[in-house]
Amino acid sequence: MRHIAIVGSGPAGYYTAEAAVKKWGEDVRVDVFDRLPVPYGLIRTGVAPDHQSIKAVSKRYEKVALTDNVRFVGNVAVGTDVTVKELQDLYDAIVFATGAPHDRQLDIEGADLENVIGSAAFVGWYNGHPQFADLDPNLAGRNAVVIGMGNVALDVARILSKERCEFDGSDIVSHALEALCRSNIETVTILGRRGPHQIMMTPKELGELMHLDRASPHVDAADLPPVDDDAILEPGLRKSVTLLRDFAAIPESIHGEKRIAIEFDFFASPVSLRGTGGKVSEIEVERTKVEAGRAISTGETYTIPADLVVSCIGYRSSPIDGVPFDERAGRFPNDEGRILPGLYCVGWAKRGPSGTIGTNRPDGYAVIDVVEQDIGPGGRKRGREGFDELATSRGIDVVTFRDWQKIEQAEEAAARHGSPREKFVDVESMIAARDN
Ligand code: NAP
Repeated sequence: MRHIAIVGSGPAGYYTAEAAVKKWGEDVRVDVFDRLPVPYGLIRTGVAPDHQSIKAVSKRYEKVALTDNVRFVGNVAVGTDVTVKELQDLYDAIVFATGAPHDRQLDIEGADLENVIGSAAFVGWYNGHPQFADLDPNLAGRNAVVIGMGNVALDVARILSKERCEFDGSDIVSHALEALCRSNIETVTILGRRGPHQIMMTPKELGELMHLDRASPHVDAADLPPVDDDAILEPGLRKSVTLLRDFAAIPESIHGEKRIAIEFDFFASPVSLRGTGGKVSEIEVERTKVEAGRAISTGETYTIPADLVVSCIGYRSSPIDGVPFDERAGRFPNDEGRILPGLYCVGWAKRGPSGTIGTNRPDGYAVIDVVEQDIGPGGRKRGREGFDELATSRGIDVVTFRDWQKIEQAEEAAARHGSPREKFVDVESMIAARDN
């Protein structure tokens, strides 16, 4: 019998569990740990609440979670409640599917001013992550600046621009919905340090900006390269750039009908943030030019009013006691997912924060192939039986998948009209719903 511990119950974790069951059937036991009492990681707290069709992939993970030889072990923080060494004594392999929950640091002067927020916190706030539910961003000013031109920047800009009825059918948490509906924001500037040909935004997500009730996207046609230059782009990026061209062609009459302007500011690298009374009020940026795909300084600077700044410049994984960590890369050092024999990583914890949810599937299958090479038919480890003894002796309050289903039912029962659920945003309420 093989005993596998997977740390993290997001897409990478459940695809890995699925791969283990496919490969070994009845000859494997998989425990999927999560520090939260609720599963699905980024599907629950990262994917935008108005993208329910993407969130529906959790149904696939539920099927895996409900197979007899897979268990959800929620409310257990590996590294604190239980050490990696303790798990190594019990399981043949530990696979870290812990994602990249921390922001890459915006390393400029003034980044510590009030209302300068990293995307992990801002996204966690509107998605009800217990760590960030209390963020309470100040949305009283008129000008928001979003740094970065990836899909997270798009999510943030879109969420800041929608009005109440556009959240119908979403599971945005009520505290965020109410705050956003009171917001005074009129301009959302998306800052890119490079040009239109270097954006990381995908066409489906970018195209959504065309269909917002009270906001429209503004692109200065002068920033766009000659149309013929688009021919060298890969098809997805070419589609995105075509959308930018469409945005540049939106007539003033249409912009005039919309209260919120989403301004694309290309060739603009953040230099510093300035504030009044400790709170951010403007951002200084430097004009760049792009040569061979790289942003080059020009020395020309200007300022943009900024009452709120959300930095969407990528993520880092968390180190875990007892596991080697590459500080520079912000993830576990690994060779095709192997950190050391017995310790593995998968998903963003393995390759960094890139790709779609689906990218994690081949990753999960590949890491199980590597695990197989190392552990063969398994050893004499005690697996879940040993963990249960440890948890009982230590008084760890494990939340099972059945417990989660009870929490889920309570969230569904509390949903606003038309919404799939009203999430609990703190661990105590989740546990109370289980115990109810
Ligand atoms: P991303 O795609 O890597 O984009 C990060 C952006 O930040 C880039 O435009 C980058 O510019 C910029 N940046 C990095 N450091 C910077 C700095 N110091 N100053 C200014 N700008 C800086 O990352 P992401 O948006 O966080 O997305 C992470 C992953 O999740 C991606 O694979 C994304 O597609 C995925 N995702 C998908 C969806 C969806 O499909 N709906 C939604 C959200 C996220 P440079 O290119 O110049 O470095």
